Amino acid sequence: MSDLLDSCRGLVLGAFDRTFASPETPEQPPRDKTFRLTHLRLEVRVDDDAKTVSGTAVHRLSPINDGLREITLDAADLTIRRITDDAGKVLEWETHGDALTVRLPRARKAGESFEVRIRYEAKPRIGLFFMGPDKGYPKRARIAWSQGEAMENRYWFPSYDYPNQRFTSEVIVTVADRYVALSNGRLVKETRDSRRRTRTFHWLQDKPHSNYLVALAVGEFDLKEWTADGVPVQAYVPKGKGGFIDRCFRNTPEMVAAFGKMLGFRYPWDKYAQVCVPDFTAGGMENTTLTILHEYCLTDEKAYWDYNPDDLLSHELAHMWFGDWVTTKSWGHIWLNESFATFCEYLWREHKYGADDALVAILDDRTQYFEEAETRYKRPIVTHKFVDASDMFDVHTYQKGGNVLHMLRFVLGPDLFQKAISHYLTKHGGQNVETNDLKVAIEEATGRNLDWFFDEWLYKAGHPELEVSWSWDDKAKQVLLKVKQTQEVKDPVPLFRMPVEIEIATDARVWRERVQLEKAEQVFHLDAPARPKAVMFDPDAVLLKKITFKKDKDELLWQLANAKSVAARMQAAEGLGTFLSDDRVVAALRKALTKDKFWGVRREAATALGEIRSAEAREVLLEGAKDKESRVRRGVYRALGKFREDDVAFKALAKAYMEDGWYYPMQTAALALAEARHPKAFETIVKGMDRPSQAEVVTRGACMALANLRDEKGIEVLKERTAYGRPELVRFASATALGKLGSFHEKRRDEIVEHLAALLRDTNYRARYGAVMGLEELGYTKGIAELEKTAERELIAHLRVAARLAIKAVREKHAEGAKKVEQQSELDKLKDENKELKSRVAALESRIETIAKRRK
Ligand SMILES: [Zn+2]
Repeated sequence: MSDLLDSCRGLVLGAFDRTFASPETPEQPPRDKTFRLTHLRLEVRVDDDAKTVSGTAVHRLSPINDGLREITLDAADLTIRRITDDAGKVLEWETHGDALTVRLPRARKAGESFEVRIRYEAKPRIGLFFMGPDKGYPKRARIAWSQGEAMENRYWFPSYDYPNQRFTSEVIVTVADRYVALSNGRLVKETRDSRRRTRTFHWLQDKPHSNYLVALAVGEFDLKEWTADGVPVQAYVPKGKGGFIDRCFRNTPEMVAAFGKMLGFRYPWDKYAQVCVPDFTAGGMENTTLTILHEYCLTDEKAYWDYNPDDLLSHELAHMWFGDWVTTKSWGHIWLNESFATFCEYLWREHKYGADDALVAILDDRTQYFEEAETRYKRPIVTHKFVDASDMFDVHTYQKGGNVLHMLRFVLGPDLFQKAISHYLTKHGGQNVETNDLKVAIEEATGRNLDWFFDEWLYKAGHPELEVSWSWDDKAKQVLLKVKQTQEVKDPVPLFRMPVEIEIATDARVWRERVQLEKAEQVFHLDAPARPKAVMFDPDAVLLKKITFKKDKDELLWQLANAKSVAARMQAAEGLGTFLSDDRVVAALRKALTKDKFWGVRREAATALGEIRSAEAREVLLEGAKDKESRVRRGVYRALGKFREDDVAFKALAKAYMEDGWYYPMQTAALALAEARHPKAFETIVKGMDRPSQAEVVTRGACMALANLRDEKGIEVLKERTAYGRPELVRFASATALGKLGSFHEKRRDEIVEHLAALLRDTNYRARYGAVMGLEELGYTKGIAELEKTAERELIAHLRVAARLAIKAVREKHAEGAKKVEQQSELDKLKDENKELKSRVAALESRIETIAKRRK
């Protein structure tokens, strides 16, 4: 699964949890099983007028131990009509919450295979969603789609709804004859009933998979098909949107073949279909052979490079191996699905756009991880302590885990890494796995014992924080490289052991050496013929770390101009940003911004110029605003936002916001306009805020910019944009921004709580999500009662998690506020006492003076 808002996470922070470490958090180990489910046959009719599913679910199963007298399945909100066994005998059953317990007429022996047939009806509130046009959204496509992960398929069919079983499945679905119904595996048969005006699609997934991967999509679609590596590849989009298919899906066939090669294991399923649907609750979901995607991935060229649908598409495709072919046994090991899918986004970028391009994605993910680690929590990636399975789908699982696999590849080297992964996929194909299975597979394939690596990066938490410096010993002709690990080593954060590369550059040559970090303080002695021009620690930025490496200006200037690796040049640019008003520095950054061949370095140079903030730096940035690469222009605009109330910067940003043409740069310009606090910023932002853009990024940026601007007039503007009928992502962003803006205007808080509380009852998931985020941003205790209702009763698990976190954040903010008030009153008391003491001292002094005078 992947989050739709990834691409601008910085804009809408706070999607996930901060509650792992709490001692009252329960342990959630894998579920016990009493039977093996071998096949599911789902024969249903889907009625999109009535928004119902009805039919029969047949489970073929066999007991694990002798004497099985009852079976328990998951069924939420289903109306069960009748349950029979394979002899046609009616069985007794009862429900408790989501548990459906069926009594067997006699005890069954281990291995004895039998069927349980359940006739049922459902009007699902989640699990299967019915989208279509209405008054607010007359153009919305009429499509029904499912979303099973984590445990929501139980809302549309009775099932064993936990990932630690795998079974083959058939979905036989009857729909109105104008629709196509898509499901897992291959289409066995399609029949029409002209009298009833229906069509029936019979899908078979003959390779076992887990329940959350069973999927359904019903609607009218435009379709394009390819073949890749012998595999049929298909892209379905809502009818009328076929024009987007080529741009968005053109790389999928190449991806299928490339992953097969890179992973040393060919695509393991019968087909690969992708289908775009309206208002999907995630960015994408990797059902076996049928990925469902949010239709916002259908982008035009003005967002292509900033958004790049390849990240989402490669992520979901990679799940066909990691997640679907080998599947986590329980939610505590979900990194085996998600970290691999995230890591495969890097693999694809490397393959298609080069290692430098991939590195930027890796570094961006790292930044997001640091933010979660610093502001929320550090947790082991593998843990069974969580409240809701959805808690596990956080930045640790995705972004940190992707980085951990990137480091694993570095530790093993690319060849052994591929050998290990290929063995893991072969050995565990078609199985459920846990973390240790991967460790053992690596050992079997490569002979390498990685206990230490798994221990520090997966079972423990945090990351190394390093202080690095170097000096030159001219007598010994050696570089002395000092490395200190300064993170607080306290459970669960360890002292880290890792190999690291060092690059040394002299006039004559450049070479690398590998050293082993393992102690709190180490000094490495590295031979060199002469004093180096630069010493670069981890020049490819492989290690997930925080680092302070103070260097003098000359070394940084040399490094920015000459270092081969882009990471070293980017670090040099960053370091130079701390030298204010220095002509040589600005000239070097100008050269990097206008001439460096890699866009990531140009962007970093812009950031450094924004830190320097001199008139000369501003002139250079204006030059950079002409860069053809939109990702560099975004960096330039962000940097121009640092020039507070500056007319020249304002003019450039206003022009960028209205005329850049590319959506993401315009979004960045909106935020920069707010950051610069120019008197005309408000009217400028409002004027351009409703222009349509891919995933509404311009409007979303403008909403957040209005919140950051703090102008009370923004409240009405934002309220309007939360209305039903506005695009769902605009509603999400404006509700979030409304809460933030409200936090600066005490008198308006009650009215805003009321407004957001109404949105919590909206039918649209993202409007409700925005309301939760808004109440968190508002930070007002009166919002807690409303959030509590969501935390308890909301059906979509992410939202329960988000509400729980929002409550915690509001309480913490309030406690901090109260603490400040207390501190203030103590301070006031001290000041009073101080004043009193001073006056007493003064009185004493004057008395002493008087006495002294008298004595004179
Ligand atoms: Zn995923």
